[in-house]
Amino acid sequence: MGYNIGLIPGDGIGPEIINEAVKVLDAVADKYGDDFNYSRLFLGGASIDAYGVPLTEETVAKAKEQDAVLMGSIGGDAKTSPWYRLEPSKRPEAGLLGIRKALNLFANLRPAVLYKELSGACPLKEELTEGGFDFMIMRELTGGLYFGERKTYEENGIRTAMDTLVYNEDEIRRIAIKAFETAKRRNNKVTSVDKANVLDSSRLWRSVVEEVSKDYPGVMLEHMLVDNCAMQIVRNPKQFDVILTENMFGDILSDEASMVTGSIGMLASASLNDTSFGLYEPSHGSAPDIAGQNKANPIATILSASMMLRFSLDLAMEADAIDRAVAIVLEEGYRTVDIMSEGNTLLGTKEMGDMIAGKIKR
Ligand code: NAD
Repeated sequence: MGYNIGLIPGDGIGPEIINEAVKVLDAVADKYGDDFNYSRLFLGGASIDAYGVPLTEETVAKAKEQDAVLMGSIGGDAKTSPWYRLEPSKRPEAGLLGIRKALNLFANLRPAVLYKELSGACPLKEELTEGGFDFMIMRELTGGLYFGERKTYEENGIRTAMDTLVYNEDEIRRIAIKAFETAKRRNNKVTSVDKANVLDSSRLWRSVVEEVSKDYPGVMLEHMLVDNCAMQIVRNPKQFDVILTENMFGDILSDEASMVTGSIGMLASASLNDTSFGLYEPSHGSAPDIAGQNKANPIATILSASMMLRFSLDLAMEADAIDRAVAIVLEEGYRTVDIMSEGNTLLGTKEMGDMIAGKIKR
């Protein structure tokens, strides 16, 4: 069957890691008889260089025509790149915020996976992580404190600032549905994280999540306060399957979760709207310090491509094949420089892509 996939190579290491993901997608297409039609889209610094702005209407229109979009990474070195002499609304990052908004991407998924072969990179004690862990953070991306009314003012000569945290039940319901649907494809557990002992918005969050859970009798629901969740991620990360949470809590918890895996070059992510469409990208940035040197780890992008097949194109068999190929390559001791340790074999970006694609073709 034919699928339209938008590709945003972006900046820095973006084009290198996207090339490797396409290599792997092509291997999957060959093996399973899928037909992937790629369209290249400009965003971020590459778009500034080509069109003078970080996001064009053409990119938005083309993205909307795709079944899903796979992105490398955007941005440059803020100290040296001319992009950062532009006003903030014209810099690369504004393009990313703009496309997320234009595509109404309200759900952000960040898997936190520790492969047993990479457990040496995990800063937690071995007995807490033995055998690895695998959970997913589902973060609300377009509401809450980052989008509420805010102001800075003086009251009786005292500088004062105010931010507001607002959620309505529809915003909570649609992300809760995504979390339960995701848990159904995984291990059937949702941990909804809030601060319901203090915040009204959290009490509404909790009650709407309870309502949604009634439609998913096969998925276990638990509630956890955010301060406890921050502790539990470092104390017992193996207990989690899908963590569902609002924007700011998710921002903080997903960075904590990525730190406990210890390997930024391995972490995929997805941003979804209420159709099957999604924007998929590695969690890391454009790593300008190693761009063009064949050193970048392409695995986060390859795993983002696997998420794309699973969540947007409904190609679970093909996604499983990619995940398995990555696991085999790690088991066989192949490493890029960021995850290298003694006794393993060092590969460059291209060679890692070849190796993973080769395991799929077998
Ligand atoms: P970064 O993630 O790009 O790099 C942090 C460190 O991790 C660097 O030492 C880098 O070499 C290393 N690293 C990152 N990805 C790697 C990979 N795949 N393989 C091997 N090593 C890897 O973060 P930064 O340096 O803070 O940001 C660089 C640029 O990326 C900035 O312009 C920033 O705005 C942008 N950025 C973009 C996104 C995005 O596109 N979603 C996300 C984060 C940062």
